[in-house]
Amino acid sequence: MTDTLASPLADTSARPDHRPPLAVLIAAPRGFCAGVDRAINIVELALERWGAPVYVRHEIVHNRFVVDTLKAKGAIFVEELDEVPDGVPVVFSAHGVPKSVPAAAQARDLNYLDATCPLVSKVHRQAERLAAAGRHILFIGHEGHPEVIGTFGQVPEGSMTLIETVDDARAVTVADPANLGFLTQTTLSVDDTADVVAELQRRFPGIMGPRGDDICYATSNRQAAVKAMAPRCDLVLVIGATNSSNSQRLREVAEREGARAFLISRASDIDWQWFDGVTTLGLTAGASAPEVLVQEVLTRLGSHFTVHTENVTTAVEEVVFKLPRALVGD
Ligand code: SF4
Repeated sequence: MTDTLASPLADTSARPDHRPPLAVLIAAPRGFCAGVDRAINIVELALERWGAPVYVRHEIVHNRFVVDTLKAKGAIFVEELDEVPDGVPVVFSAHGVPKSVPAAAQARDLNYLDATCPLVSKVHRQAERLAAAGRHILFIGHEGHPEVIGTFGQVPEGSMTLIETVDDARAVTVADPANLGFLTQTTLSVDDTADVVAELQRRFPGIMGPRGDDICYATSNRQAAVKAMAPRCDLVLVIGATNSSNSQRLREVAEREGARAFLISRASDIDWQWFDGVTTLGLTAGASAPEVLVQEVLTRLGSHFTVHTENVTTAVEEVVFKLPRALVGD
């Protein structure tokens, strides 16, 4: 579905206008998902309730602008729990943490809040159930991503193997092929993951797993919007961080649909040479990028071009996750 909107940036009647025209397609949904919104709320409410400083283990979400905004309000970001002093609250990031992290916080009697996205927690519980049933888990994800580290940390060591590609799925050897399960990271490419799952199911017909995959609604909705938008675009800009998995996947989806695509953290990253010969630009934002950065890019585009915007809307999201009781009461 597409909606044509009049752009406030297009009204340049007050001065002679030599800016070339640029059509800007804006993907919807884009930007913040319910899990990111909840995680940021948790840090802000913790700061309100207990005052600064509030410690946060790992970037609360993968976005420098969000992290810097929370730092300015009194959040302190660290990578490991042993960097958190006694007696101050600490929040665990939206990506989830291994079980050892809350266990260590409890052992130190720290006041901790878990901002793990409920959709990541759901995968954690699935992993526990598969491991408890004695099934070895083939986990589809990207090595080193904090969500992968967190999910591996839900089950005993050695009960999960990482599968990153179809080639991995073809090559993996397992002790008991009849006793397997699979799970996936929530922020993967929908299309690539379907290929990996299909290969695992071909090789191991009895493998247990979710119906389809564990990719979350926000990741799949943002990819679907880019798929609808990108074939009409000469260039697609994805606002997001380089360590944001779902943002990187949006850039890849745009490229597969035939557009040149770049990941930018914000407007100042734009290289105007990218626009040579471009008449239609697509714009989207990863799940951890705030809308203010989309508006900043639109404003910057408006200073170089006469911009005509059009929303490309493929879904409307109304998902909201509950906050922890410690912050909002019962
Ligand atoms: Fe949760 Fe998906 Fe957002 Fe990650 S991208 S925080 S899994 S809703």
